[in-house]
Amino acid sequence: MTQIIDGKAIAKALKEELADIVSKMAQKPALAVILVGEDPASKVYVRNKIKACEKTGIQSIERRLPEDTTNEAIETTINALNNDDSVDGILLQLPLPAHLDSDRLVQLISPEKDVDGLNLINAGALVAGIEGMVPCTPQGSILLIKSVVKDLSGMEAVVIGRSLLFGKPMAQLLLQENCTVTMAHSRTKNLEEVCSRADILIAAVGCEKMVKASWIKKDAIVIDVGINRMENGKLCGDVDYDAALGIAGAITPVPGGVGPMTIACLLANTIKAAKL
Ligand code: NAP
Repeated sequence: MTQIIDGKAIAKALKEELADIVSKMAQKPALAVILVGEDPASKVYVRNKIKACEKTGIQSIERRLPEDTTNEAIETTINALNNDDSVDGILLQLPLPAHLDSDRLVQLISPEKDVDGLNLINAGALVAGIEGMVPCTPQGSILLIKSVVKDLSGMEAVVIGRSLLFGKPMAQLLLQENCTVTMAHSRTKNLEEVCSRADILIAAVGCEKMVKASWIKKDAIVIDVGINRMENGKLCGDVDYDAALGIAGAITPVPGGVGPMTIACLLANTIKAAKL
C-alpha cells in the first residue's frame, strides 16, 4: 500500500517546534516581505506567509509597491531593510512584473537575510557544503523524504526540473545525503526510463500529471512539487497521483504535500537568520 506523506501534519509539527523556539527568544525574529503589484496568487502566498509568521510568534513587516514601480524603488526598499537591524529576514515575492530585473534585485538582499536562499553566496555555500540559507521548498522536501526513510545513502534519486529555486538546490541536498543523483530537464532523453530507475523521484516541472504510473519504480518515494490548476479549477501536481497509488511506496499529495513545508521552512530560515 502506498503511504501518503502528510505534508500538512509534518509542517504543523515543525511549526509547533519553531513556535516553542521563538517563545524562548528574548528578541522575536522579524521577516520583511516585499510584494510588488497585484498578482492574485502572490497576494495569497504573502498573506499565508504573514499568517504563519503571526502564529509562530515571528514579527512580519510588509512592504507593498505598485505594479508600475521601478527597479530603483525596489533597490531602495531592499537596501533600507538590509540596513535595518530589527529585520532578520527579507523575502522578495516572485514573480515580479515583467519590466523589473528580478535576477539582479534578488541578489541585492544580504546573504544573511536571504531567507529564500537565492543569493549566489548561499547557492555557492550549498554546493560547497558550507552552512548557509537553503531554499525553503527543497529543504522541506528533504524533511518529507526523511519522514519515510532516515538514511538515504546510496539511493538513486531523480529530480525532474533544474531551476535555481528548486531543482538545483534539491539535487545538492540529495548529494549531501549520499544519494546518486540524476537531474532531468526538458532536453533529457528517455525521461520515462531515467525516472523508472529512481528510488526517490522528485517532479518540479509545472506540467499537469506528466509523470505516469509506468515511470515510477515499485515502492519508490515520490515527491510532487508541481502546482497546476486543472480545467475544473482544482489543483494537481506533476504526477498522475491516482495512477501512482499502489505503485509508489510513498507519495506527497497536491495540495497538502510539499506546499505546507515550504512555509514552515521559511519560518525556520527566519529564525536561523535571527540567530546568526
Ligand atoms: P521552472 O523554473 O519553470 O522550471 C521548470 C523545470 O522543468 C525546468 O528545468 C525545465 O527544463 C523542466 N521541464 C519543463 N518541461 C519539461 C519536460 N517536458 N520534461 C522534463 N523537464 C521539463 O519551475 P520551478 O520554479 O522549479 O517550479 C516547478 C513547479 O514547482 C511549478 O509548478 C511551481 O509552481 C512548483 N513549485 C511549488 C512550490 C511549493 O511550495 N509547492 C515551490 C516552488 C515551485 P529546462 O531547464 O530544460 O527548461
